[in-house]
Amino acid sequence: MKKSYLALTIIGLVLVLFFVVAPPMLDDDQNPVDAHQPYIISPEAAELHSSLIVGDWHADSLLWMRDLTQQYDYGHLDFPRMQQGNMALQMFTTVTKSPSGQNYDTNETDARDNITSLALMQRWPIATWTSLAERALFQADKLHQLAARSPDDLMLITSTTELETFLQRRESNPKLIGGLLGTEGSHALDGDLANIQRLFDRGFRMMSLQHFFDNKLGGSLHGTSGAGLTEFGREAVARMRELEIMIDVSHSSEAVVADTLMISDRPLLVSHTGFQGHCQSPRNISDELMLQIAEAGGLIAVGYWDGAICGNSPAIVAEAIAYGIDLVGEDHVALGSDFDGTVTTSFDGSEMAVVTQHLLNIGLREEQIRKVMGGNMLRFLQANLPD
Ligand SMILES: [Zn+2]
Repeated sequence: MKKSYLALTIIGLVLVLFFVVAPPMLDDDQNPVDAHQPYIISPEAAELHSSLIVGDWHADSLLWMRDLTQQYDYGHLDFPRMQQGNMALQMFTTVTKSPSGQNYDTNETDARDNITSLALMQRWPIATWTSLAERALFQADKLHQLAARSPDDLMLITSTTELETFLQRRESNPKLIGGLLGTEGSHALDGDLANIQRLFDRGFRMMSLQHFFDNKLGGSLHGTSGAGLTEFGREAVARMRELEIMIDVSHSSEAVVADTLMISDRPLLVSHTGFQGHCQSPRNISDELMLQIAEAGGLIAVGYWDGAICGNSPAIVAEAIAYGIDLVGEDHVALGSDFDGTVTTSFDGSEMAVVTQHLLNIGLREEQIRKVMGGNMLRFLQANLPD
């Protein structure tokens, strides 16, 4: 009798460790903010920041077990912190597969997947254990549920009409966050073009083509082949365009970016990146390709972490943005934090005013700051979301 009690207690403890203790520990460990003194924001920067529409093209917050209506002291984003940081528009991206030993140089497509154990640990539905599409849909459902539970905090945006409604509502409720849904890598299609429609129907309006490894659509910037778009990839891009899904080429091989530029009739996004000429990193594609993306009307969203911008201080974020403005022009640069994307930042969502402060510090004009902080994102969404 005693022995079985002991065994049960041990099993119980192991289960509690795995399902209750481990997920927040892992989240905290993977999404740190460097310790720092509170940032000093000048009255001028604070006033300018509070008048901005701040928009961000990339955050993986739905991957974790946090209830985003609550404020946490770990991770990068939740609604209270976004509201403190005056964040208005947020593209929530959904990670569905990430190779163990993930790096910016080479990753095998069939490497052991880290998201499977994360799904088990966080008690995701059984369907997500084997289907990457289900993982994207499950994360999308989280955002739908948040919008239903907290309609004064979050509104899901899937069309230009909803975007206009959002802007009107935000005038009387400046706490309101406009959330959009995007995938990170089109392996989320499970190799089936029909899943593009399925994801679209659940609200996805941006799809990226690759993540850390080559997939059925083509080569990753961090894969093994460096290949361009496959035939399946071309068909997928065409289908996405028919549905007016915005295409994100971050993490794609340079050959995929060039191929996609050639066949897409709409501008492309790079949702989270740095610039090669500013930070020579295998995470960044060439400045030449960035110029082509911008010339075709695209938007390049600058991240806040070391691998993209060779540092993570607010000063370096501002420096990377200024480099981008010099290279591609002030109408083609935006923010792409990669918050909660297993990166180390020096500020979280509540501290976004520090970016405005540093853009002022380096002499950017108010109009330029307004554009990169979110004006360009808003304009891009108005031009590229379906009606
Ligand atoms: Zn990423």
